[in-house]
Amino acid sequence: MINFHDFTRAPRQLREQEAEAVLRVLNSGDYVLGPEVARFENAWASYCGAVGCVGVGNGMDALEIGLRVLGIGAGQEVITTPMTAFATVLAILRAGAVPVLADIEADTAVLDLASVERCITPRTRALMLVHLYGQITDMGRWIAFCAEHELSLVEDAAQAHGAKWQGRAAGTFGSFAGYSFYPTKNLGALGDGGAIVSNDGGLLERARVFRNYGQAKRYEHPVAGMNSRLDELHAALLHTRLGWLDRFTEERRRVAAGYRELLRNPAVRLMAEPEAERHVYHLFVVTCDERDRLMRHLSDRGIMSLIHYPVPVHHQPPTAHLARDPQGLTAAESHARCCLSLPCHPFLSDDDVARVADAVNSFATSSVLT
Ligand SMILES: *Cc1c(COP(=O)(O)O)cnc(C)c1O
Repeated sequence: MINFHDFTRAPRQLREQEAEAVLRVLNSGDYVLGPEVARFENAWASYCGAVGCVGVGNGMDALEIGLRVLGIGAGQEVITTPMTAFATVLAILRAGAVPVLADIEADTAVLDLASVERCITPRTRALMLVHLYGQITDMGRWIAFCAEHELSLVEDAAQAHGAKWQGRAAGTFGSFAGYSFYPTKNLGALGDGGAIVSNDGGLLERARVFRNYGQAKRYEHPVAGMNSRLDELHAALLHTRLGWLDRFTEERRRVAAGYRELLRNPAVRLMAEPEAERHVYHLFVVTCDERDRLMRHLSDRGIMSLIHYPVPVHHQPPTAHLARDPQGLTAAESHARCCLSLPCHPFLSDDDVARVADAVNSFATSSVLT
């Protein structure tokens, strides 16, 4: 069986370091907003090359809090993609703003600039760009576009830990980035966790206050914030795992390179291949017109695959009414019908990769059979 994730195959040395980190927190008697959170925040900001980082409860809260402290809310529109985790759009709604959906590019599944342009109205305040599957696309275009239209550039970097464009990571291009440390992300905790990363010191300070009931000093609440704190245990584990992130990213790139070399089934298409440093392969996605049959074919051969995402945001009941590109969301619709994520984690061996590729290559479309 080749699982989609397999945390049990993590190196023993990492396991020992994690156990040490857990014991350190347990014995410290400090469990919320203590030294481990401050240490991880500094380490993560420095890893991203950003001015600062604020640890929060999860990735969705990072996006919501970032938008709130940026002053984006009631009646203001934020353009984003329907091909994303539902949390992206839910964060915009929870901030009180109005999501507007633009279409994606077929070969990256990331937002399409021409479609985003068609979504602009006098109420548009921000663009929430999702670095989907772990790839950072040409940020120069987005920075210029947002400057031209006077929009705040906000990044959903929940899948893109360590991905870089021209040596810069998410959180350094626009107003802020939201990261998630959900267990399956490239840098994951043993539960929920998230962070806001930014070069804007004022925004970071407001986020720091907002995540803790809007408390500036003990018992002083200048704003009505939320309770969304990263805890010491997860911060300590994340700090330990951060020491391994680059190694694991290289392993993901090895798996992806293996697939690109070995997959040769004309019925199965690959996504665009950006320069190495721009993609951290949170997911390795292919497209196939008979996706559901391909998925069964793999599962019959002991290979687990998943779909990111089978139901785009505009087909979910709470968001079916959202405004969108007047020309429609056809690329997103078609991607949702055809996309399939192959196993892509750091602990897959080259043999595993070859087995998955063989299984994909042995898939015959029904048109060939009939
Ligand atoms: C995981 C994810 C989120 C939400 O993160 P949580 O920590 O689960 O709240 C948001 N956006 C994207 C693109 C994600 O993959």
